[in-house]
Amino acid sequence: KLHNTIQELKGNIRVFCRVRPLLVEDEDGEQVQSVVQYPQFGDLVGRGIELTQAEGQKYAFSFDKVFGPDFTQANVFEEISQLVQSALDGYKVCIFAYGQTGSGKTYTMLGRPDQDEHKGLIPRSLEQIFRSSQSLESQGWKFKMQASMLEIYNETIRDLLINPKLDAQKADVGAVAKVHNIKHDNMGNTFVSDLTLVEVTSWKEVSALLRQAAQSRTVGRTNMNEQSSRSHCVFTLRISGVNESTEQQVHGILNLVDLAGSERLSKSGATGDRLKETQAINKSLACLGDVILAIANKEQHVPYRNSKLTYLLQPCLGGDSKTLMFVNIAPDCKSLHESLCSLRFAAKVN
Ligand code: ADP
Ligand code: MG
Repeated sequence: KLHNTIQELKGNIRVFCRVRPLLVEDEDGEQVQSVVQYPQFGDLVGRGIELTQAEGQKYAFSFDKVFGPDFTQANVFEEISQLVQSALDGYKVCIFAYGQTGSGKTYTMLGRPDQDEHKGLIPRSLEQIFRSSQSLESQGWKFKMQASMLEIYNETIRDLLINPKLDAQKADVGAVAKVHNIKHDNMGNTFVSDLTLVEVTSWKEVSALLRQAAQSRTVGRTNMNEQSSRSHCVFTLRISGVNESTEQQVHGILNLVDLAGSERLSKSGATGDRLKETQAINKSLACLGDVILAIANKEQHVPYRNSKLTYLLQPCLGGDSKTLMFVNIAPDCKSLHESLCSLRFAAKVN
């Protein structure tokens, strides 16, 4: 089978494309049409996607899977549940959402956690992991899970699980923000100094943490939506399991990453902080692409150290770890240019 051969050559890197539905907000006063041709619902093996420019020029791409707008959160999760499960078997797993702001990254990763139909990968993955780990207890397994959540903004790490109230008090007495350093040991463990790790035993506990993180993200921010689209948000679940009868051990990690918006802000208008921010985002997204490409090409040197994000995730990228990149795109004609950029980026690493 050709498809399998390609998978083997590429190792454990996969790229899925997801097209969100047209939204009322896309219309801009006039009825807009989708410029994207994608597989129809039910075509779960769909791999092709095509964009058509107003002048009729077509651009075709293919990925490991393509989800059109009819694919529900449950449909998408079905395709990744095995990958999530492998974290419980001791693999290091990274799932990224890449795309311009408004293309559906957060909807894909988090969705609306309280609504069964709209909850995204994070709630579904955690529910599955807790359910499976509980059922493994009857075979003598005991699991310990720790969650952390951080954002990387302007190449600086911020802990999102610090109690926002305590944080505010510290700010009052003029304390400086904590500097979080990343260290790896040769066993593939990562240590981020002063990062809050919370032991969790149920999805309910994690969902409380996510709410806390969302609050923490807004502290000191004027425009939360704008700011959150300028930073990478990394949710990490560390899983340690030991089987008390066989003494077998597993250590898995699941990283779920909502990347900063990939849109190129016009360089002409950006100055000062804004320019610095834009450069940091462009650089770290490009670096992520370079790292994935180097791994896929089995290159000797993988440039992990060129950005905070890739350095943080180094042990979870490459080796026998598993990586999945969602490239999210919006279907409206105004987004065509950005969609093309995103698809080209994704095609390069695919
Ligand atoms: P991003 O995080 O990339 O900026 P969002 O996830 O916030 O984008 O999505 C933008 C808007 O589109 C939100 O209102 C979201 O609810 C909606 N949306 C995105 N993807 C889908 C989808 N597959 N189905 C329905 N609504 C979606
Ligand atoms: Mg978002």
